[in-house]
Amino acid sequence: MKPFHIITITAFLLIISSIIGCANDNIKPEYTPPDINSNAPSEEIVIHDRPVIHNELREQLIRQYTLKHYGAEILEITPQAVVIHWTASDSADGTFNWFNKEKYYNGTLNVCSHFLVDRDGTVYRLTKETLLCRHIIGYNWCAIGIENVGGVDGTEDLTHEQLLSNIALIRYLHKKYPTINWVFGHYQQTEAQTTGLYKENVSGYYSIKSDPGPKFMESLAKGLKDEDINFLPY
Ligand SMILES: [Zn+2]
Repeated sequence: MKPFHIITITAFLLIISSIIGCANDNIKPEYTPPDINSNAPSEEIVIHDRPVIHNELREQLIRQYTLKHYGAEILEITPQAVVIHWTASDSADGTFNWFNKEKYYNGTLNVCSHFLVDRDGTVYRLTKETLLCRHIIGYNWCAIGIENVGGVDGTEDLTHEQLLSNIALIRYLHKKYPTINWVFGHYQQTEAQTTGLYKENVSGYYSIKSDPGPKFMESLAKGLKDEDINFLPY
């Protein structure tokens, strides 16, 4: 075969393969648990401070909440767990505005979380990392909360960017607070009692949760398998 023909055929094959490649790029499955292995890069975490109102009223409500539920006034926590959530809404701004109020609808301490991760993986820090936040019954006294925007109608739709940000954020937190031994999802709250961290003085105080779903927790555990930290079965 003449060199000219070989070049022509090669060019033709390159064009065809690039067209197929582009077509593949356009196929985006609704949700595919990202295949993270232990060699996944531990990306540098970029944290954007976006603090919710922290005033005397919030502190007073935190003290009231902890006295009632844990039997002591606790403002500052020693983190022993990181709990992963989804917001069940599609808006970071809406979530921020909700958390920004000090009072819950019934006048008690409002729900909040230490971190909020947007769909594109942007990480917002909403409070001081060791301030007690109300995000999971029974574990607020020892757990840092990460909320992920998504999960509307219970759909497991958290993004690959959110997964990578959660991995980087947990690595950052674990390095900063070696007292952290556990990472679990809100839906794992009952199984998490085996950690010995559950405390609740008010009997029957409980709510069923499904966030952030087992697929996300499995992907998170795979992405952090080289980190000396414990996960519960998904
Ligand atoms: Zn939750």
